[in-house]
Amino acid sequence: MLEKQYFIPEPEEFIAETPMTTTLKEIKKSRDEEIRDVIAGRSEKMLVIIGPCSAHEPAPTLEYISRLGKLNERVKEKLVIVPRIYTNKPRTKGVGYKGMFLQPDPEGAADIARGIRSIRSLHLAAMNESGLTAADEMLYPENTAYVEDLLSYHAVGARSVEDQLHRQVASGIDTPVGLKNPMSGNIIALVNSIFAAQSPQVFKYRNYQVSSGGNPYAHAILRGGVDGAGRDVPNFHYETVMQLAEMYQGLENPAIVIDCNHSNSAKQFKQQIRIAEEVMQNRRFDSNFKKIVKGFMIESFLVEGSQKHDEIFGKSITDPCLGWEDTEKLLLDLAEQV
Ligand code: PEP
Ligand code: MN
Repeated sequence: MLEKQYFIPEPEEFIAETPMTTTLKEIKKSRDEEIRDVIAGRSEKMLVIIGPCSAHEPAPTLEYISRLGKLNERVKEKLVIVPRIYTNKPRTKGVGYKGMFLQPDPEGAADIARGIRSIRSLHLAAMNESGLTAADEMLYPENTAYVEDLLSYHAVGARSVEDQLHRQVASGIDTPVGLKNPMSGNIIALVNSIFAAQSPQVFKYRNYQVSSGGNPYAHAILRGGVDGAGRDVPNFHYETVMQLAEMYQGLENPAIVIDCNHSNSAKQFKQQIRIAEEVMQNRRFDSNFKKIVKGFMIESFLVEGSQKHDEIFGKSITDPCLGWEDTEKLLLDLAEQV
């Protein structure tokens, strides 16, 4: 039996406590437009969704995004940088740290109301510090209501992408939503998910029957798959991308983001550099590949690798990440090649 612990206030109450200022609303509006332009092919820039696997503490996340904001000044003519502020973590075995939403203190007890307040404050501080609006994973579709006014990019993860409610909520989001291929690596399931998210929908959301017009900016993220024996199978290579490009026909704004970590790198975080370089090479080789591969997802933090407990400032407590030096080099390098 479920035991009620406490009532969580409605999203409107949290939003009223920490609203966006007019200046931030303006920033977000133009950032949203810039990201949409990349997905729709109206801009030649590349989208780079980059940051730690999980934003487990505000201080290192803010330090990271502040550095990203400065670096952005050097690459903004070529790259659209979207920091990852990931606050809901899916767990392969269902246990372990599940993100700031549930645990505002990564070593402490669950406290969702405090978690929502921490997340909203973190987003506002990050925007004020860097001028960049961020991405998060839509792990629990109904939680999107607490942060939708702040986010410029939503991702639907590999464990959620075949779920009807995720697809339906994605269909009603105004910003681009990246849908990952499922853990199985099944590409047709990904294409079906994009179709569903691009279609108008009527469904139940929170306490309402709602309708959506479909999201023409819903697009694919290739993150690699896992075979029946648990082995990672990458899917960023030329052949898979071109196969997906073909299957994309009939959908709006064909766009693929390559997730350089997860099953593409087998979480060998340094491999992200090679993977991004290979993708850039393929973009040079084939204009059709270039046309559809519009961005990267990269896991990166202040200190490279990962740690079990939050002991080292700016080191991931979930998936291993590139460190800052490699990150800076990689982004400058990518910007030169776009
Ligand atoms: C992530 O982006 O950190 C993540 C959990 O991704 P995936 O759904 O691809 O495992
Ligand atoms: Mn991750």
